[in-house]
Formats: sequence, structure tokens, C-alpha cells
Amino acid sequence: MCVFCKIVNGEIPAQVVFEDERVVAFNDITPKAPTHILVVPKEHIESATEVVDSNLWSWFMDTALQVVKKLDLDKQGYRLVINTGEHGGQTVPHLHLHILAGRSFSWPPG
Ligand code: 5GP
Ligand code: ZN
Repeated sequence: MCVFCKIVNGEIPAQVVFEDERVVAFNDITPKAPTHILVVPKEHIESATEVVDSNLWSWFMDTALQVVKKLDLDKQGYRLVINTGEHGGQTVPHLHLHILAGRSFSWPPG
């Protein structure tokens, strides 16, 4: 079982900031910004490419934006990132959206 499935199951603890029937959002264990939250579907889906239910995307984005608004991240801005596959820099093989905020981010990414 992957590390995010273990968090979803409660086998590994995480600082959960939001949860509903389809997704959970929790703080990244090694934050890359003052605010670094991961939004994860409860179902094990390996990557963005593997999503077959397009309703999941709206659910996912709605959740991310609820978290953004709840934490007032929209005032100064934020970045949403989905790393996918080897070149995308994905290290955990369970779909997740990064919410990054609290500092300025450069562009293009490295
Ligand atoms: P990726 O590199 O796949 O886009 O992002 C994976 C993220 O998961 C990384 O930012 C990493 O710090 C985070 N992460 C890995 N293992 C754990 C864990 O056990 N708990 C939490 N909260 N985050 C984790
Ligand atoms: Zn998983």
C-alpha cells in the first residue's frame, strides 16, 4: 500500500486540514513553502493520467479552492502543482495536488 493510502487509512499520521468523502488535504511532511498542503483523492489513482472519472477533477479543484479560501491564501496568491511521472518530478505514485503559498515562486520551474 502506498504512503498516501496509509495516510487516508489513518495508518500513518498527518496534519489534516480538510477532509470529505472523496478527498483529504494535509500538510506536506517536508514543506517547500510556508504553506504546503497536499490534496489527495481517497481512491488510489497513480497519477493525473490515470483519472477516468472527470467528476474527480471538479471535486479535486473545488476542494483545493475551499482550502485556499479557508486559509486566506488567495489574498497574496498561491501556486497549484501536479507533478506527473519521472520528468514531472513525481515521487509518490498516488495522485496529489500541491498547494503552495506564503512566498513568491519563480517561473519557469527548475
Ligand atoms: P511529489 O514529489 O510526488 O510531487 O510530491 C510528494 C510529496 O509528498 C513531497 O512533497 C513529500 O514531501 C510529501 N510526502 C512524502 N511522504 C510523506 C508523508 O509520509 N507524509 C506527508 N505529509 N507528506 C509526505
Ligand atoms: Zn495510494
